[in-house]
Amino acid sequence: MQTFQYTKAASIDKALAAASGARFIAGGTTLVDLMKLTVEKPSGLVDINLLPLDKIEKLPGGGLRIGAMVRNSDLAWNEDVKRDYAVLSEALLSGASPQLRNMATTGGNLLQRTRCVYFREPSAGTPGGYACNKRTPGTGCAAMDGFNRMHAVLGTSDACIATHPSDMCVAMAALEAVIHTEGPKGKRTIVFADFHKLPGNTPHIENGLEPGELITYVDLPKPVAGAKSVYLKLRDRASYEFALASCAVVAKVEGGQIRHVRIAMGGVGTRPWRSHEAEAALLGKPATPEHFRRAAVAALAGAKPQKDNAFKIELAKRCVVRTLKMATATA
Ligand code: SF4
Repeated sequence: MQTFQYTKAASIDKALAAASGARFIAGGTTLVDLMKLTVEKPSGLVDINLLPLDKIEKLPGGGLRIGAMVRNSDLAWNEDVKRDYAVLSEALLSGASPQLRNMATTGGNLLQRTRCVYFREPSAGTPGGYACNKRTPGTGCAAMDGFNRMHAVLGTSDACIATHPSDMCVAMAALEAVIHTEGPKGKRTIVFADFHKLPGNTPHIENGLEPGELITYVDLPKPVAGAKSVYLKLRDRASYEFALASCAVVAKVEGGQIRHVRIAMGGVGTRPWRSHEAEAALLGKPATPEHFRRAAVAALAGAKPQKDNAFKIELAKRCVVRTLKMATATA
């Protein structure tokens, strides 16, 4: 049995003081699973459910501040989010189950870990177990020659091809969210694009958090006037399933031309995958299926398939095209 110290923190200061060697626990919808599978073996858990980080508030400049403890359900059904950031509401509601969304928090969702089946095997990274560089650096990657239908085609490396699993993060990438943290070195902000790391040679390093650093808020910028946003998720079954390919689009059309566009993809990348290439292919162009297809081709230009997942490349292109059609359709 793996034992750990449990602490319930009543303030951010107390949570930070107790964090050394420990993990913060909020909804527990990822961390408890991973502890049962022996993927995570923290020496302590700091329960942060009492922290005053459960509000959704309007920012003076017109954006929205989301506390790290806001539950996924509360965020998805918030009136401001549904009206001004529909892509985020739709992404959240496409993930997991109602019960999980009622527990899972905004901060925890940012830290979701891959569903790679080899990574989640209790024996992974140990002698005689599956090779997994994410579990134990330098042991190899069982997925490379194993069953890799669900794995990534963008941002992969020779060390790891694991897909980032979050829907919420794909929407936040398209919305250009900003993450606020507090830790032993003080407060800081991290732009969303810099938060999740490519695997490279260090797939065990998944994000830019320092040890003992706590996510406190996520800010969404002021919505672009006249823009529409959409999230589309394609998966093996219509509920409680991870994406084979997904797409988040924020787009504004004026006079038939694309005046603003942000595109991010899920299910295909090793991190939430913002495509600047697709955006550049569309900006200032007519909002037509031909140009949507060109953008989709640009988005997947760097894709590298594995033996079981080449189908994801065309699927993701069609997902991008369809999401762009939905986001640019007039009422
Ligand atoms: Fe581990 Fe990454 Fe390979 Fe999966 S894809 S087995 S997480 S190294």
